Order: sequence, then structure tokens, then C-alpha cells
Amino acid sequence: MAVRLDPVLVDVLACPADHHAPLVVGTPDDPEADALTCTLCGRRFPVRDGIPVLLLDEAVGGDETATVPPTVPPTVPPTPTVPATEP
Ligand SMILES: [Zn+2]
Repeated sequence: MAVRLDPVLVDVLACPADHHAPLVVGTPDDPEADALTCTLCGRRFPVRDGIPVLLLDEAVGGDETATVPPTVPPTVPPTPTVPATEP
């Protein structure tokens, strides 16, 4: 049976790992599963009696090495060169 969680609650829930990525209801294999899956690391957190257990110790699977992709510093556009003014 699918988890029945308040969509607003799901919106504010986040993975307890450092990246704090959003969670989705169900698992990739079973959208009806009583679980929440991290959208970044793929950990699956059980939902017991309608209460999400967002503990890394309780998480199943996922890529524990997943981290937030490094942010690429914005490229600074080259300073426009002022054409030399002819005397
Ligand atoms: Zn995660």
C-alpha cells in the first residue's frame, strides 16, 4: 500500500545526509512502497505507521558516497577591452 503522506510534508522533508536532497514517495522499483527515496543518493527510508523514519542508520541501499555535485564557479566574462582611441 502506498504511503499516504501529506504532500506538503513530503515537500519539506529532506535526506538526513549532508546533501539534504529532496525525497520522493515510494522506491524506484515500487512507487507504492512504504518508503521515501532520496533523489540524490537513492537511500530508501522506511515509513512506519505513517511516520517517515529519516535516520541514516535506518536507510536502505543508496549510494553512500553520493555528494552534492561540485558547484562550478560562474565563468567571469572577459572584461570588454576598450578600443584605443585614436588621437
Ligand atoms: Zn540522500
